[in-house]
Amino acid sequence: MTMKDTAQDGLLASPALLAKIDKLRERNIGSHIPLPQLVVVGDQSSGKSSLLESLTGIPFPRNVELCTRYATQITQRRDNITQVNITIIAGPRSTDEHKNFVAAYHGSATSGDDLRAKFPAILQEVNARMGIRTDPSVKGGTVFSEDVLKIEICGPTADYLTVIDVPGIFRNPTEGVTTKEDMAMVRNMVTGYIQNSRTIILAVLPCNIDIANQEILTLAEEYDKKGERTLGILTKPDLVLETSAKETICSIVENKRKRLALGYYVVRSRGADQDDSGYESREHMFNQDPWRRLDKGRVGVRALKSRLGELLGDMARREFPKLRKDVTDMLRVAEKERDDLGPARQDESEQRSFLSTMAGKFQELVTAGIEARYSKYAAFDDSVHLRLITQVVFLADRFSQEFKSKAARRSFDSDADACEDFGVDDDDQGAAEARETLEFAVEDLSLEDFPELDGIITDDDDFGYPEDGIMDWITNLHLQSRGMELGTFSDAVWTSAWREQSSKWSAMSRAFASRVIMVVQRFITQAMNIVCVDKEVRETLWACLQEEVLWRYKKTTDFLEYLISVERDLNPYTLNQNFSKARQEAHANRVAAHILSKLNSVERQESDLATVNIATIRTSTRDKSNIKDVAEQLHDDLSSYYAIARERFVDNVFAHVVGSHLLLGPDTPLKVFTHEWVIGLKAEQLGAIAGETTSVKEQRANLNRKIKDLRTAKKILQF
Ligand code: GDP
Ligand code: MG
Repeated sequence: MTMKDTAQDGLLASPALLAKIDKLRERNIGSHIPLPQLVVVGDQSSGKSSLLESLTGIPFPRNVELCTRYATQITQRRDNITQVNITIIAGPRSTDEHKNFVAAYHGSATSGDDLRAKFPAILQEVNARMGIRTDPSVKGGTVFSEDVLKIEICGPTADYLTVIDVPGIFRNPTEGVTTKEDMAMVRNMVTGYIQNSRTIILAVLPCNIDIANQEILTLAEEYDKKGERTLGILTKPDLVLETSAKETICSIVENKRKRLALGYYVVRSRGADQDDSGYESREHMFNQDPWRRLDKGRVGVRALKSRLGELLGDMARREFPKLRKDVTDMLRVAEKERDDLGPARQDESEQRSFLSTMAGKFQELVTAGIEARYSKYAAFDDSVHLRLITQVVFLADRFSQEFKSKAARRSFDSDADACEDFGVDDDDQGAAEARETLEFAVEDLSLEDFPELDGIITDDDDFGYPEDGIMDWITNLHLQSRGMELGTFSDAVWTSAWREQSSKWSAMSRAFASRVIMVVQRFITQAMNIVCVDKEVRETLWACLQEEVLWRYKKTTDFLEYLISVERDLNPYTLNQNFSKARQEAHANRVAAHILSKLNSVERQESDLATVNIATIRTSTRDKSNIKDVAEQLHDDLSSYYAIARERFVDNVFAHVVGSHLLLGPDTPLKVFTHEWVIGLKAEQLGAIAGETTSVKEQRANLNRKIKDLRTAKKILQF
């Protein structure tokens, strides 16, 4: 590319390193991580654009009216094809509409001359896209924009040099043109660039103005405390006419005045009304006094450019390891963020596989929870509520004990062992602690925490002990409903005695089933939380599963009602041979008790060996009234039957209600969320549950782009 008025002939050091940095910039890494760059700052009209033109060959507009209204990034890149690309990068606070509008712009030129010819038109279009007000008499538009104009120059001899031109700082708003807000915005834009530790600040200072007044040096000092990245560039030396003033400039360049660690350069650019002459003819003046005494390395655009290449190379070398680390760290964070979003769910099959994986994990937790294989998943260590079968077995044990001691309406005469309390006192400490944890876990259950189960379960839990006086009650019952039976009781008495005696069964077994249901429901909720991290998805998913799960609980309680009804509403009957055995035993015990009562106290002490008169045995039944006899018979039958029915009922409740309906059967609430369920979902249902919201989609797309950029960056930085 031949561009007039430039010093482009491959002067830069470390081209390989700079090429890498530029590759990063090209891949848009600069928007994630600050990259080494040169930024030209200075007051309005200090000669920034003119300097850039000298450095890059881009013919910037140089009149005051058209002073820079936005940042311009000029990137040069070595490439076989000569080409200039012009694009606009939207500012960080732009609306989507504006982003799209400016992104749609793409200007290009095939050569320097071509660009020169097109440039005014290009700028006009760019101004229009950014919404810059160029004519002060026209209302609307902005004066400055945070958008960035990007000019990329490719060519076989281009240097890897990226320079950013920012609007000049100004101290006073101009009536009708610029406002205080504009001033602040420009200042922010400038400081935004120079505060970056990887920015080399090119502070442009016109020679014809007292440099002590140059705010830009103070500003640069503020952000570059050690002065390691600030370079002073003196412009417009040709406008200095007095010898004493020239002397002052020379002493500044010699770094004898306001010292800068990186020193000063002096360059001469083209003046407003000067012709197109090249830099060589312009810089001829440096061969004259007093300029010619200056170090040649500090004078002219070629020297400056070569120094900039060095500085950028040094910066790149110094920052390289840190850059690599930044990229790696940022990549890790971005990947984690993306993983947290879960896999992409754009189409039906992705959504199905997303839910299916989730259902699979859920079923794994269910199996582990039922089989007590808790060591398989860490989650089981964190929450005792997930230890499903352990809680259920604990509840079942307690139920069985409590049922034995409390479920009868009145205690039978022979109930010596029925009232023992549940509780094991001789646990060692570890076992006691484990029991306590479990007790706490199940005691904690409250219907309040499961509003969805309202109407399905109950939360009664206070069942008193059986009352006394069963014989009186039975006698009464018999007397009140006696028919013409001789020496026996009627079916009706038998049935109503049984119903009365088992009247607490229903409430107690319902309470037990309710507790198990709460344990199962709590397990499901927690397992869902584990397998589905995304709250929004989880809530929609649960809304779809809930009805079926609740229906299965309902079926469970219905079945329990059926079991209760079988026991209580049908004629009490059993095939169990233990029934007649128990009755006979009760009868024999009664005879024995009667006989014992006839013995004297010495004989009673050795009752097993006492000699009993047959007559005594005969009178043991003969003395009894018919009423008492029948009542005793009824009591003994009832007691024998009760023990058998109770065991049968408790077993049935556990096997059918808990085992089959809640935990292990094919249709338990735990088996609602399965692969099969997911497969059966229609496309709309899938989309509603697992489809991503626009914001998540956007977030994922951004993260994916960032990850891709950063991975590329990592690769570029590796070799
Ligand atoms: P900016 O506002 O900082 O970008 O300044 P410009 O580059 O637009 O320059 C402002 C004016 O100063 C323009 O008319 C330039 O032609 C002129 N100018 C810049 N550098 C020099 C120089 O070295 N010598 C002379 N005579 N004029 C210059
Ligand atoms: Mg300018």
